[in-house]
Amino acid sequence: MDIFSNQKQSLRTMEPPGDFGSVTAILFDFDGTLAHLNVDFGAMKSGLLSLLSGYGLDTGAFKNLYALEMIEAASEELKQKRAADSDSFRTQGLALIKEIEMEGARKGCLFAGVEEMFRVLKNRNIKTSIVTRNCFDAVNCICPDIESRCDAVITREFTVRVKPHPGHLATALERLKIGSGERTVMAGDHPMDINAGRAVGAYTIGVLSGFSTEDLLRDAGADLIMEKITDIVF
Ligand SMILES: [Mg+2]
Repeated sequence: MDIFSNQKQSLRTMEPPGDFGSVTAILFDFDGTLAHLNVDFGAMKSGLLSLLSGYGLDTGAFKNLYALEMIEAASEELKQKRAADSDSFRTQGLALIKEIEMEGARKGCLFAGVEEMFRVLKNRNIKTSIVTRNCFDAVNCICPDIESRCDAVITREFTVRVKPHPGHLATALERLKIGSGERTVMAGDHPMDINAGRAVGAYTIGVLSGFSTEDLLRDAGADLIMEKITDIVF
């Protein structure tokens, strides 16, 4: 399946934003989209909740947040209560997350065909960027030459706000020197990828190689669902 030729007709009938045949850039989530999903989010969350508890905070108020947002919210609360603890909590929380990310990265790898997919996209003059909440060291551990394969790698260190905030995608578009998301595709395995993509006006592709079921991605509003990311060119 090649979305730039065979599927063009069906994509048009789905009324994607803009002409899909003239896509100028594709933004990719990383874990579960380009690489096997090995990050133990359960361990990350329970580790953070236990850290919160150690700082005397009520875990109930934070347990439904994503890990990075949990750290931000808790360190903000600590800042109000005991300012001296805020920075040390943040440092410990981020170290805990990174340790779990690196553990996942050491046993991780890209999905088959991803490197070739980037070559094909480059030959078609389509700009590419990775947009991930993961840290650069973990992405670089899984794919050491990632920066030569795509035009931008926007891990959490390189953006002020991370997904699901659309500012993360806006940072990538800015890096690619693209003014708007209209002729852009956002592809990912999580509803937050779809939500963030829609927020910048991108055409959104949900992939079934990671976190989500088809229903979850459709409910988030994905324009297209694919079994795996390399289906966009092969
Ligand atoms: Mg993902």
